[in-house]
Amino acid sequence: MLAQFAVGVEDSRGRRHPEPQHPYRNEFQRDRDRVIHARAFRRLENKTQVFTRRYSDHFRNRLTHTIEVAQISRTIAAQLGLNVDLAEALALAHDIGHPPFGHAGEKALDAAMRAYGHSFDHNLHALRIVEDFEQRYAAFRGLNLTFEVREGIIKHSRDYAAPEYPGLAEYLLDLRPPLEAQIIDLTDEIGYDTADLDDGYEARILRLEAIRSGVSIFDRFYRAAEAQYANVSEKLKFNEALRHTLDRMVSDLISNTQTRIEAAEIKSLQEVREYRERLAGFSPAVEAERREAKAFLHENLYFSAVLNPEKVQAEKIVGELFDYFLKARGALPRSYQENSRREPLPVVVCDYIAGMTDNYILEQHARLCSQKTSAGNA
Ligand code: MG
Repeated sequence: MLAQFAVGVEDSRGRRHPEPQHPYRNEFQRDRDRVIHARAFRRLENKTQVFTRRYSDHFRNRLTHTIEVAQISRTIAAQLGLNVDLAEALALAHDIGHPPFGHAGEKALDAAMRAYGHSFDHNLHALRIVEDFEQRYAAFRGLNLTFEVREGIIKHSRDYAAPEYPGLAEYLLDLRPPLEAQIIDLTDEIGYDTADLDDGYEARILRLEAIRSGVSIFDRFYRAAEAQYANVSEKLKFNEALRHTLDRMVSDLISNTQTRIEAAEIKSLQEVREYRERLAGFSPAVEAERREAKAFLHENLYFSAVLNPEKVQAEKIVGELFDYFLKARGALPRSYQENSRREPLPVVVCDYIAGMTDNYILEQHARLCSQKTSAGNA
């Protein structure tokens, strides 16, 4: 049973190109399945989340991170009475616009674009992927997703000001997104905060004592694990503390969002959209703990000196390949050469590079730019 404020599949504004109904899958289930079968989705397997393959084969990549976010989102959506199929489709799509090499790749691509008066934004790129680049259907370009999935891809993590983004006018920029989209940014953060503590600890970049003194939510649960399991290994106590940390964040997000929905007397999807702010959120206490964990990860992991060489490498490779294709349009695949007749060349080159996996960009760089670089990359 869906809550009154959930997105009912019968409320959907539909697809750009009308299609006959499927006999037993609803429209949001079809969209979820279309995302899973997309090429851009499969490429997530070879895109860095935080750690490159140099560290371990069992650390998260962007695909396994995405699967974790989908799992958390399904749990939260079901508990709040939201549309689980829509939430799952949005979770599975939430990172498909990411370029290779994680945050460093995104930063490098944005810097390259800014030199030509453009910019790179992974949400806008994700929309281009599902609207245009994926070519699976004879009748139209893109995946022909429902309005609600396209809207959620754009609006799940930030607000875009209507005057600055006239091209996004159809996505109701002056209104809040449905709760199914609002939870995605928060489940994304629950997913990566806990996962990055886990992988950072296993990589021996984050030491237990540092985590305990910098992340109080974790420390509380670690104390409890020590009291309950005195004789197990540190790693098992670590796991206990981490799973309770994740559970506390998820449970708090559910209960606090429920409380806010009730306090605001929200009875319909339209009221969710028209409410003055997003309704999904943590309680003040857990919000403070979340911020503390995030600040700890920024200082000790994301901006740590240990990960710096790979960042420098990512920026160099993205930057050099971008410059190469600007001078050698003929080296682009034919479809991108065709696009460059309709769109500025830097935009087309950016689209091409953003779609690359870590492996592929390394290969392309070695093949096309190797004469300019020294051998022996890490
Ligand atoms: Mg993510």
